[in-house]
Amino acid sequence: MPGQLRCFSHACRANFAITDVLYTCPRCGGLLEACYDFQALEPEALRRLWRDRRLSDDLLDRSGVWRYREMFPFLDDYAGVVSLREGNTPLLDAPAAAAYSGLDGLQFKHQGYNPSGSFKDNGMTAGMAQAVRLGRKMVACVSTGNTSASMAAYAAAAGLKAVIFIPHGNIAYGKLAQALEYGAVTLQVEANFDQILALVRELAEREGIYLLNSVNPFRIEGQKTIIIEMLEQRGWRPPDWIVLPGGNLGNASAFGKALRELKQVGLIGRLPRLAVIQAQGAAPFYDLFRSAERAAIRKVDDPKTLATAIRIGAPVSWPKALYEVQATGGLVETVTEQEIADAKAIIGRCGIGCEPASAATLAGMKKMTGAGRIRRDADVVAVLTGHLLKDPDYIYRYHTNQLLDPDGRPLEPTFGNRPVVVPNDPARIAAMLREG
Ligand SMILES: *Cc1c(COP(=O)(O)O)cnc(C)c1O
Repeated sequence: MPGQLRCFSHACRANFAITDVLYTCPRCGGLLEACYDFQALEPEALRRLWRDRRLSDDLLDRSGVWRYREMFPFLDDYAGVVSLREGNTPLLDAPAAAAYSGLDGLQFKHQGYNPSGSFKDNGMTAGMAQAVRLGRKMVACVSTGNTSASMAAYAAAAGLKAVIFIPHGNIAYGKLAQALEYGAVTLQVEANFDQILALVRELAEREGIYLLNSVNPFRIEGQKTIIIEMLEQRGWRPPDWIVLPGGNLGNASAFGKALRELKQVGLIGRLPRLAVIQAQGAAPFYDLFRSAERAAIRKVDDPKTLATAIRIGAPVSWPKALYEVQATGGLVETVTEQEIADAKAIIGRCGIGCEPASAATLAGMKKMTGAGRIRRDADVVAVLTGHLLKDPDYIYRYHTNQLLDPDGRPLEPTFGNRPVVVPNDPARIAAMLREG
């Protein structure tokens, strides 16, 4: 039973075949989601099956995404799946970060341990499998960030041609470097993001290129496994809160869908609450959530944040994310550049580390516990979305007091750790080390 595609708009709910090449609903323009009949699934049997697969030598079973394939059965067979051993990410206790945020305890689910260093790999392996299944030879996305790095890696592994479109003037070098190394064709277009999106859609239509942008419903299916794996690691005890950063809001959508479906199958008895954290300079979803009617998102024309992975002014998946956050009784919060920078340094001091967007989670927790919106004894899992080394420039600047916010104002190196120049003199160095 390969499921079907369904329009997410509750006024439309049109159904389409799972193999139709659609990115949005052809009737109403709404978002699409994959739907399945989960009736035959038994929670106990699934738990055992997923445990046993960890001992298998089959890469499909060892993948932290495809191990849970019963929860996203959109393929007819698994011959075309390309795995780079994505998922399998750790759930880490972080007492120092917990104390910093005013919580008794806190766990990090670190998606930066993925093959290309971000959670985009969880979704990309699924999206790429759909591209292969549809017989496509070329895939594309518009991104300068982790999506291009991930798509380039999986396309290379699958033997498909990858084309990345870079919006004018926005280049994140660390992530772009990965895309170049993985062999993606990288095109810089003299146009803004919306114009490029229109261009890419036309090209996709004409040339049969499969689009792996964040609206792609199959990427969302793969990202559900972040939640499944985390709950499995916790012995199927749902936390009180799951905290994550929000950019295009694909991940918030995926998390909500996963939780609903796990409850439907009987793998969990209740829904944890989702807390989505945005950067103050790029917070259209926060504004929407705070508005009285929560009717339609208002685009932020010039989104500003050093956390480039969440520098999104018009998040495409907002209707899904709004539905999911509300369904869990969740929250949306914003944090400042200074709060992100300091929280990031604290995560580093735990020996864990992450990229700036990920640190918005800890900054958000601190703010919400401080305001009494989350209890100090709450059971909280924060999802760290990307690896520390995605953005080394930011780190060096912070620790050496050279980090400027997007408006050019200096940020305070509250937990700065600058390199020290010393003379070639063991006695003086020893004395210095003793002083601490
Ligand atoms: C893509 C990304 C985000 C934002 O996720 P959305 O699904 O777009 O909300 C956050 N952090 C990192 C590291 C990312 O790569």
